[in-house]
Amino acid sequence: MYKHILKLLILTVSMGIVSTAIAQDTPKRSITKVAGDVYRFQNNFHFSLVVLTNEGVVVVDPINREAASWLKTELATLTDKPVSHLIYSHSHLDHASGGLVYSGSATVIAHANAPEAIDGVKPDVRFDASETLQIGGKTFELTWLGEGHGNDLIAVVVRPENVAFITDAAAPKRLPWRDMGGANLDGWINQIKTIESLDFDIFAPAHGAIGVKADATDARIYMEKLRQAVLTGLKAGKTTDELVAEVMMEDYADWQQYKDWRPLNVQGMANFIMRSGQAN
Ligand SMILES: [Zn+2]
Repeated sequence: MYKHILKLLILTVSMGIVSTAIAQDTPKRSITKVAGDVYRFQNNFHFSLVVLTNEGVVVVDPINREAASWLKTELATLTDKPVSHLIYSHSHLDHASGGLVYSGSATVIAHANAPEAIDGVKPDVRFDASETLQIGGKTFELTWLGEGHGNDLIAVVVRPENVAFITDAAAPKRLPWRDMGGANLDGWINQIKTIESLDFDIFAPAHGAIGVKADATDARIYMEKLRQAVLTGLKAGKTTDELVAEVMMEDYADWQQYKDWRPLNVQGMANFIMRSGQAN
């Protein structure tokens, strides 16, 4: 009897450990409708775009191999058609890994500046300033955003839904990532201006919540205000540490990642302005 209880106890404890491990390791994944035939696929903090067409499924960004494999299987609940096209928003590997899951059957599209191969996938179609694709009754307008966050970043606008998929350069009511990775931040601001010049209604970002086109303008104004405050401080002889303590960007306190990334945004902007010689 005692042995049985002990066995049961060990089993219960070990099952508890196993289920905790699964809970910690299982990525948060879901497919949710944005509008019409346009969906977003979430893999933890990354999103990709999924569009059902008469010809097949168009995926923007594979994210990574495990995520792409999960999506490929799960798509069967939405359509009996395979993934016919894979579009890369850019080549940063936290969005662009795992394309091999689709590339055997899909036409692969990327900007001309993308590397020859992205995680082992060689794009079939490349374009410079812009490209319009008609696929199974949908229109995909691809626009290069110039140099800033990377040099091969594109926006994808899907019609007739008028949804823009935007990666990393801007997101609705969310601060840019940490110190913005040593990017040319004047170029980055121009990337957002290019996004603002596009015709769309729904802003589907690769990070964070869905928004509307006006969110792109707000994101650009945030960057410009940050730039102006940091530039003024540097010209007044202030140190980066002083600016981190002073440039609070209070108007954005309710944006996502404000608490964690505001100090890093200030640092990144100060580094860029000093590096580019604009504070002298
Ligand atoms: Zn990126």
